[in-house]
Amino acid sequence: MRELRGKPVADDLTQQLKTRIEKLAENGITPTLAIVRVGERADDLSYERGAQKRFAGAGADVQVHTLPADCSQADLENTLTMLSRDPAVDGILLFRPLPAQLSETRAKSFIDPAKDVDCFTDGGYAALLTGSGKACPPCTPAAVMELLDHYGIDLTGKRVTIVGRSLVVGKPLMLMMLAKNATVTVCHTRTADLPAECRRADILVACVGKAKMIDASYVREGQIVVDVGINVDEAGNLCGDVDYESVSAIAEAITPVPRGVGSITTAVLLKHVTECAERSAETN
Ligand code: NAP
Repeated sequence: MRELRGKPVADDLTQQLKTRIEKLAENGITPTLAIVRVGERADDLSYERGAQKRFAGAGADVQVHTLPADCSQADLENTLTMLSRDPAVDGILLFRPLPAQLSETRAKSFIDPAKDVDCFTDGGYAALLTGSGKACPPCTPAAVMELLDHYGIDLTGKRVTIVGRSLVVGKPLMLMMLAKNATVTVCHTRTADLPAECRRADILVACVGKAKMIDASYVREGQIVVDVGINVDEAGNLCGDVDYESVSAIAEAITPVPRGVGSITTAVLLKHVTECAERSAETN
């Protein structure tokens, strides 16, 4: 069994990006991400620290714009408008979910699609669908693609089963894998005989949000299993959607949780902000 860890992927990607960032620096440009955080959610703060560390180590900047948890829709929209207009900001990341009084649907229309580094806007999503290459895909599915590429796993002609069809993970991953010539099946709560659909795949991706749901009955020998899930088990430990112990005894390769896909997302975020800065430098 091969364990496909995220750190080597993130380190390699960051190293490649450093060269591109140095080139931008020669022209006086520092790729800059603006994080918009509403409130003080622990996982937002943890992601924010991870992004700050990753960006600082590569010569890029992160600005953090915080709003109180009880802020108004107008406060949020004014912040997003200001950042969309600011030429010093290349990318905007709004942490979600937002508190209940705020509308994500309304907020996203205040982000310039050219600065949308996590495919939150409708314009970003449309570009992903058409494959125009002019927008950034969401960071988590993009991290899965970086992982497969890093470990030399070619998707051409492969049968992929994705369990989960959310807008942030399953659906965009389907489009990205299709673009790489995989034959993709997307499963969900109404799928008939989910274990059989999973066993049919050459590459199985779990983005279900259910701790250790994918067990030995869902896999067969020779499969590559990618676990996107981040959950907490009964003992309070971080775990994926895949039951690592039983599945790793069968699969050919598997990503761990933690230290798998989740370790790659801030490097992908850095890639997206760098791309936005490069595109903006080309057009100015
Ligand atoms: P989500 O919005 O809750 O979507 C879950 C999807 O799984 C839905 O499409 C749902 O089907 C399907 N599903 C749920 N239970 C199922 C079952 N018993 N059988 C078959 N399908 C089932 O979750 P998400 O935001 O996509 O996140 C998925 C996982 O990825 C979570 O564990 C989350 O924490 C993790 N995540 C990780 C990262 C990272 O950086 N690694 C980033 C984002 C999310 P229906 O559509 O039919 O309801």
